[in-house]
Amino acid sequence: MIKLHDKYFKPFISAKEIDDAISRMATDIANDLGDEIPVFIGILNGSFMVVSDFVKKYPKPCEVTFIKLASYEGLKSSDDIQRLIGLTQDLTGRTVVILEDIIDSGKTLAEVHRIFKGENVKQLLIATLFYKPEAYKKDYKLHYVGIEIPNKFIVGFGLDYDGLGRDIPEVYQIKTIEHMTNIVLFGPPGAGKGTQAEFLKAQYNLVHISTGDVFRYNIKNETALGTLARSYMDKGELVPDEVTIKMLNAEVDKNADAVGFIFDGFPRTNAQAKALDELMATKDSHINAMIALEVDDEVLVQRLLERGKTSGRADDADEAIIRNRITEYYNKTAILKDYYSAENKYFGVNGIGSIEAITVRLSEVIDTL
Ligand code: AMP
Repeated sequence: MIKLHDKYFKPFISAKEIDDAISRMATDIANDLGDEIPVFIGILNGSFMVVSDFVKKYPKPCEVTFIKLASYEGLKSSDDIQRLIGLTQDLTGRTVVILEDIIDSGKTLAEVHRIFKGENVKQLLIATLFYKPEAYKKDYKLHYVGIEIPNKFIVGFGLDYDGLGRDIPEVYQIKTIEHMTNIVLFGPPGAGKGTQAEFLKAQYNLVHISTGDVFRYNIKNETALGTLARSYMDKGELVPDEVTIKMLNAEVDKNADAVGFIFDGFPRTNAQAKALDELMATKDSHINAMIALEVDDEVLVQRLLERGKTSGRADDADEAIIRNRITEYYNKTAILKDYYSAENKYFGVNGIGSIEAITVRLSEVIDTL
């Protein structure tokens, strides 16, 4: 993903696909024109890359020139096409092939046809690398089209967003942010993340993913992942990032239609936080907030020992292991407060009180997002 000015763009068409499309166009046009020496005319600025690549691939003699029109202002196709550099040679009787980077509304093309109206060329052919059929509003014939694309703003390979992006050798498409709500529920072991997640997921229709629960499920089912995770969990240590991140990605993928997630027990390290950002970006989304339940250590130890009487969790049964989990939290996980604070996404909530009172405190934060 890349950011140009205020917008995010995701990879859309690779350099190889572009190259193949230009090769096809060059072959088709050469076949159709036979021995005639055409004049290829690029429309600046956007077409400079297409023209350069195209003429290198054109297998026969040809002439190349440019005209300069301006059509885009920011993200929208402007009504006002300006002719900045017009024709500078006599094209009477010549076969002219317009080489465009993209045709969307067709307004630039209308201006091209106006320019050629009195030129007495033998024929005027239109070739475009990209074409947006849904946006095209004119009747002019497009003789050669490289790649048809949906009506979404693109940058790269000559195309810009307010001046940036023309130099990129691939094409990127604008990311439309889907309105997901993604929350990291944070806090030391025993803070009440799991309990609160149960209420919040129902209230906000979110998918709750607890990495601890997924590991315990795997242990119960005696999977390879479970066996591996157990060796760390039983000591109160963190499972290695590589394993945990892979598992989390798979859990998120299982819920492709989710309107949002509550992540509980993840991320626990900087590497996990980065991986989570990357994962959300692939869904055209992001983490909205880290909400931390703040509870004193001694209260946590008492809560976990109490839970251990019924939870059946080996890591809740032994005070030394409990304290190790809390130490792991401060050594490796608490730093994530800085990670999310730097993006103004950290919200601390008092985690002591009745379950209902804490749910209300959490909801108050989520409602402001
Ligand atoms: P929890 O149920 O969140 O308290 O997690 C229980 C145990 O599972 C932890 O002590 C770790 O051993 C392991 N675990 C859960 N989530 C993660 C994570 N994000 N990264 C590494 N280990 C984890």
